[in-house]
Amino acid sequence: MDDRDRRKGFYIQTFGCQMNEQDSLRMADRLSREGYSHVADLRRARLVLVNTCSIREKAQQKAYSFLGRLETLKRRRPDTIVACVGCVAQQEGPRLRERFPFVDLVVGPSHVGGIAELLEEFGRTRTPRVEVSQETGAGSLDCEGVSRQGSVTAYVTIMEGCNNFCSYCVVPYVRGRERSRPYESIRREVGNLVRRGVKEVCLLGQNVNSYRCSETPQRDFPGLLEGLGSVEGLQRVRFTTSHPKDLSQSLIDCYGKLDVLCEHIHLPLQSGSDRVLSAMNRGYTLEHYLKKVDDLRKAVPEIGLSTDIIVGFPGEDERDFESTLEALEVIEFDTVFSFAYSARPGTRAALLEERISENEKRERLRYLQECEARIAARKNARMIGTCAEVLVEGTSRDGRHLMGRTRTNKIVNFEGPAGLLGRLCSVEIVKACKNSLLGRLAAGQA
Ligand code: SF4
Repeated sequence: MDDRDRRKGFYIQTFGCQMNEQDSLRMADRLSREGYSHVADLRRARLVLVNTCSIREKAQQKAYSFLGRLETLKRRRPDTIVACVGCVAQQEGPRLRERFPFVDLVVGPSHVGGIAELLEEFGRTRTPRVEVSQETGAGSLDCEGVSRQGSVTAYVTIMEGCNNFCSYCVVPYVRGRERSRPYESIRREVGNLVRRGVKEVCLLGQNVNSYRCSETPQRDFPGLLEGLGSVEGLQRVRFTTSHPKDLSQSLIDCYGKLDVLCEHIHLPLQSGSDRVLSAMNRGYTLEHYLKKVDDLRKAVPEIGLSTDIIVGFPGEDERDFESTLEALEVIEFDTVFSFAYSARPGTRAALLEERISENEKRERLRYLQECEARIAARKNARMIGTCAEVLVEGTSRDGRHLMGRTRTNKIVNFEGPAGLLGRLCSVEIVKACKNSLLGRLAAGQA
C-alpha cells in the first residue's frame, strides 16, 4: 500500500471469541506501527479487515452477512482492500473467494502476525492471495503487548491450537495443533503491559493446562504462573481456558501459594451426562469433573467457577439433559455460558445423526438458562454484606457507577470518584442484580 492508502485508514470488524479480539488488537497494533491509521467509521476505511469465527454456526453466519454488505462498498470504491481473517478464512480457504470474489486476502489465524507483510505484497502486486498454511510456529504468537486504550486489564496469548479433537469442535482444524509461546517472550510482554498501566492480565490459550514451551520444557503452566508472580507491579493474573482432564494438582496448588493468581477458573463441563461426554470425546466423566471441583474448593473454598454447556448434542435425550441440570444444581457455578449445538463442517459430530429439532434445542437452552439464573442469583445473594477486593476497570454501562471485578470474577458496580480507576478497592456488597453486584466503598477508600 502507498502512503495515501495508509492515511485513509483501516477498519476491523471482529466476530467470536476472546482469542479473536486479541488477534484484532494485535493486527491493529501492528498496522498502526506500520503507519496505517485506524478509523471508527467503516465508510471512511481504505482497508477493511473482517476477523471471523467458525466455532458456532451463528458466528459464521454473522461474518458472512457482514462480508455480503461489503460488496456494495467495494462496488462504490473498488480500491478498498478487503481482507478476511481468522477461523472461517482458514476453514474455507479458496472457497471463500468463490463466494465473495471481491475479497482480496484470505488469511488464516496463524498468519495474523504477518498481516502487514501480506498487505504490503498486495499493495505491490494487486494479486489476491489465500494464506492458510498452518506451518507457522509459536514465534507467530510473539507480541510486545497490546491492550485497549487506557485499559487496566489485558489479554496475553500464551499458546494456540489444540490436540484434543472434541468431536464437535473445529479448533484443531482451523487453529492447528498446540504451540506454546516461549516463557521469556510472555514475561517481556507482561512487563511491557504493566509499565503501560495494566494491573491485571488474563493468559489466553485453547487449553492453557497444556502449556509447555520446547525452549524451556521445565516451565509448565504452573511454572509460568510462578514466574509471572514476580513481575513487579502486576497485581492480578487470570487464565482461560482450562480443560478438566488436564487440570493438575500442581495448578490447583498455585491458588493457595500465588498471591497474584485470582481465585477464579473457567472449567468447561459441556454436559452432565457421561454418555454425551463420551460422544463429545471430552476425556472425562462427571465424577472426574466433580472431583476436580472438590479439589479446587478444598484449596480455595470461595473460588469463582464458570463453565460452558452445550445443549442438544446429537443423541442427547431427556435423561442426559436432566443430568446436566442436576450437575448445575450440585456444582452451583457462578456463570454458565450455554449454547445450542450446531454442527460444524469437518468435525466428527457433524457426521452423527441429528436427532434433536431446533425447537427442542431452543427449549432446552431456555430452560437451562432459567435454572442457571436462579442458581446464580442464589449464590450472589449470599455475598450481600461481605466485603470484596475490586479492581476498578471503568464505568458501568449506564455511566452512573464505577465498575470493577472481584478476584472471583464477579462484576461489581459502585459509586466512587473517577480517580479510583486502576486501583484496588475494598467494596461492601449491598445488592445482588441479575449479572452483577451493587456495592458501596468500604470506609476510608475514597
Ligand atoms: S479442548 Fe475441545 S473444545 Fe476446547 S479447543 Fe480443544 S477441541 Fe475444541
